[in-house]
Amino acid sequence: MSAPHRSLWLQQAYTGSTDRPALHGGDRADVAIVGGGFLGLWTAIQLKERDPGIDVVIIEKDICGGGASGRNGGEVLSWWAKLETLIKLVGEREALDLAHASERAIGEIQAACERYSIDAQFRQGGYLWTATTEVQRGSWLPVMELCDRLGVQPFQALSHEEIARRTGSPVHLEGVLDASAATVHPGYLVRGLARVAQQLGVRIYEHTPMVELDRRAPAVIRTPQGAVTADKVILAINAHAAGLRELHRQIVAISSDMVSTPPIPDRLEEIGWTGGEAISDSQLQIHYYRTTADGRVTFGKGGWGIAFGGRMGPGFDRDPKRAADVTLGFRRLYPNLADVGIDHDWSGPIDRSPTGIPLFGNLGGRSHILYGAGFSGNGVGPSHLGGQILAGMVLGDRDGIATCGLVNGKPGTLPPDPIRYIGAHVVRTGVAAKESKEAVGQQPGRVSEFLAGLAPGGMIPKKSKQKS
Ligand SMILES: Cc1cc2nc3c(=O)[nH]c(=O)nc-3n(C[C@H](O)[C@H](O)[C@H](O)COP(=O)(O)OP(=O)(O)OC[C@H]3O[C@@H](n4cnc5c(N)ncnc54)[C@H](O)[C@@H]3O)c2cc1C
Repeated sequence: MSAPHRSLWLQQAYTGSTDRPALHGGDRADVAIVGGGFLGLWTAIQLKERDPGIDVVIIEKDICGGGASGRNGGEVLSWWAKLETLIKLVGEREALDLAHASERAIGEIQAACERYSIDAQFRQGGYLWTATTEVQRGSWLPVMELCDRLGVQPFQALSHEEIARRTGSPVHLEGVLDASAATVHPGYLVRGLARVAQQLGVRIYEHTPMVELDRRAPAVIRTPQGAVTADKVILAINAHAAGLRELHRQIVAISSDMVSTPPIPDRLEEIGWTGGEAISDSQLQIHYYRTTADGRVTFGKGGWGIAFGGRMGPGFDRDPKRAADVTLGFRRLYPNLADVGIDHDWSGPIDRSPTGIPLFGNLGGRSHILYGAGFSGNGVGPSHLGGQILAGMVLGDRDGIATCGLVNGKPGTLPPDPIRYIGAHVVRTGVAAKESKEAVGQQPGRVSEFLAGLAPGGMIPKKSKQKS
């Protein structure tokens, strides 16, 4: 079998010499977590911090961080941009609590990195939510008005001059800053968290896929060469949750694609892009980008590949055609870096939920099997919050975040396959056609406008019509 294609981050953070053994034979634990990404690892760490005596096992089909957690843009964002959706889901008071908690999670990630000596290159440069075409202008206004009404001010408006200065490119027309946001090196963070979990006593089996879950109590996770029996099972498997019959109508697997440049610190200095901000535009197929500690640009685009029935092929690891399209986006937003090459490209899975907000709960109503999924492209920061929720559910917290409205809530449903697969392709084609016209200042066709109108928001909310 050929070695999996790895992201820039994992090529830097994973040496191959730190693999943990696969499971051979049986094991038993109080809690078995399936999935060694941010969600599984934060949950394990928070369980051990709160109850050092609890016996926790993680099984991971690849290596810890082999999924989205080792491939993402490393933008650590709060949920303030998603406040309106949160209010629809859980009401005003709790939505505010959750948005504040998502902001606190950013500081908690920084504190954990310091506490456990994880050099994840955490940098709190803020998040610039920008407009790079005329139609994107003011995308943030509805949420800013809502924040004003509720007495919170997470966003600060920036003039064209300021946004062009900070992003290093005059293509950025205007934008807002959420100063709480940060960037990290996702590879160092996720591999560091795996080390910490192990030091706290968590047993980790890598190269160990769950091939079957016996849902009776106690649950049994079957793997190719063994089985884990556990009082509680936590499924932290991101977009693979779309393959579970209980979650198929709540999660759809789509890809997000990234490219990176070689180190170009002098060029970044020259164009003034030195503040370390996490940046995005306001497209539905969002562009997200940042600089790295070694002076590269990493640049991504969301929402291209779509999986049928949760089955993700090799195109979810790498897709040269989509990488070429992401590169075009980079070229458009940074014409002043036109001569800079691309030296890495990779893709990864996104777990889209019907609302863009993750869901947590008991699988099929079973109290001993928990899940968290649906971060929808904004999970680097919120997976810490997810870990708080899942750890609290295991430990039986009767109040606080473990009982919030995102747990066993009503997240809505997606159409079943094949309808959603076909429908998503059609809508995606419409969005791509509309946004490529807008990028060159042309009016999109009526059909693509209509189709784009059917697409849900993702990492950021969709611009509402009446505000445009
Ligand atoms: C290209 C890309 C860019 C992104 N950029 C950003 C960003 O800048 N900011 C942001 O906030 N979010 C971003 N995200 C989203 C973010 O990466 C995720 O929300 C977050 O990492 C989710 O963590 P997780 O633990 O839920 O998932 P994962 O890291 O995917 O972990 C799930 C793990 O489960 C394992 N697994 C699955 N099935 C099984 C099985 N049957 N048996 C055993 N193990 C199994 C997988 O191998 C995987 O390692 C991006 C995602 C991608 C793909």
